[in-house]
Amino acid sequence: MALMRSGERIVASRSLFGATMQLFNNLLSRFGIETEYVSLTDLDAWRAAAAKPNTRMLFIESPSNPLTEIADIAALAEIGRASGALLVVDNCFCSPVLQRPIALGADIVIHSATKYLDGQGRVMGGAVLGRRDQVLDPLTTFLRNAGTTLSPFNAWVILKGLETLKLRMEAQSRQALELARWLEAHPRVRRVYYPGLPSHPQHGLAMRQQSAGGAIVTFEVDGGREAAWRVVDATQIVSITANLGDTKSTITHPASTTHGRLAAAVRDAAGITEGMLRIAVGLESVRDLQGDLARGLD
Ligand SMILES: *Cc1c(COP(=O)(O)O)cnc(C)c1O
Repeated sequence: MALMRSGERIVASRSLFGATMQLFNNLLSRFGIETEYVSLTDLDAWRAAAAKPNTRMLFIESPSNPLTEIADIAALAEIGRASGALLVVDNCFCSPVLQRPIALGADIVIHSATKYLDGQGRVMGGAVLGRRDQVLDPLTTFLRNAGTTLSPFNAWVILKGLETLKLRMEAQSRQALELARWLEAHPRVRRVYYPGLPSHPQHGLAMRQQSAGGAIVTFEVDGGREAAWRVVDATQIVSITANLGDTKSTITHPASTTHGRLAAAVRDAAGITEGMLRIAVGLESVRDLQGDLARGLD
């Protein structure tokens, strides 16, 4: 809203947070700002879409939710520069501890402070970072007049969260890697999606771009929705919720929650299956988490 005007275009990844898509499709579209969606990993599609006139912004998340696909941020920044478009990265899954998109060439970085920056699910907030002339000046004018202002108490809670952000991100990533390895070896688990595992198709790119794999692990169980729900219902330690970024581990079934409003065919095309579960790994003992998941898996 602050940076774009009527007639300009956004090229966005097909794998985006649902509410971000709602904003693009149902709000910005009413003001004459169109969004074209392309596959996060298909650089030729980005090049073709960005070359169309009036493209002002390229918008991505990496890793993506829930499949943990990785965007080549430096390559997309190059495509943005060549077409005169700003590359905007929603860095929610990594936080600045694990990934610094501006160092890779991105123009603007967005964080949901509701997630890892706070880290304990206490308040809602967000941050937008970039150059003064590109971000601070136009955004300040917008925020002052539109009223999307962080309350002082929430700001204080988030600042307290930042004091432990590095420790939490590193520890939660370590725990996630350990849990991902265990899941990959479990006979009832068909596949694990985690950028820190060598089996991830973009493991090399992820490890060049990020200092660790992050705390989100997605996996697919044998037996479809019924089996996946059995694993969720059998948990006693992991909380059942679509939120993420907490020091408490949370589990969700993407096909019926975060991606439940998509048509089944769209969901299938995106690779989000009925047997898929997403865990945001917290700080509990990994052995307790394994026991909690083993109850349902076994
Ligand atoms: C949760 C989330 C958001 C939105 O954050 P809020 O602070 O809840 O508005 C944006 N992007 C991603 C990737 C998210 O996971």
